[in-house]
Amino acid sequence: MPATAPAPVRNAPHIGRTLRPADTTLAEDGELRLAGAECGDCGTRIFPAAPVCPSCNGERMKTLPLGAIGTLYAYSTVHVAPPMWQVPYVIGYVDLPEGVRVFGKVAGSDGVAAGLAPDLKVRVHVEADEGPADASPAAPTYRYWFAPA
Ligand SMILES: [Zn+2]
Repeated sequence: MPATAPAPVRNAPHIGRTLRPADTTLAEDGELRLAGAECGDCGTRIFPAAPVCPSCNGERMKTLPLGAIGTLYAYSTVHVAPPMWQVPYVIGYVDLPEGVRVFGKVAGSDGVAAGLAPDLKVRVHVEADEGPADASPAAPTYRYWFAPA
């Protein structure tokens, strides 16, 4: 085992999934939120956004700002992962009020699964990802995770 902490790893599930800037929106309260998409033809709502609707192949997708509070649908604790990921961590599905079910990291009161239960109200946390020092500043990324509201 190395004596020092492992190097930061982008897009690792134990720190939250990485987002493109287009997957975020700035809410009226100044906080970052997730942004999905809604089909202008059939009304299907998705996250992350895509240029083509998965239901009808329509191309009239428009940005759909997503709420900050959702309901935990299901979750699971991961104990086995590649060496650069810190275990245990929790992954789960959260239903947002817009009708979109989003997959991502869930952090209980102890950072793992303490206090989590199906139907628990959770808050969506979105923050800028610093990334590696040599990353292009022109391409910022963000990450998100869920925690009890
Ligand atoms: Zn559609």
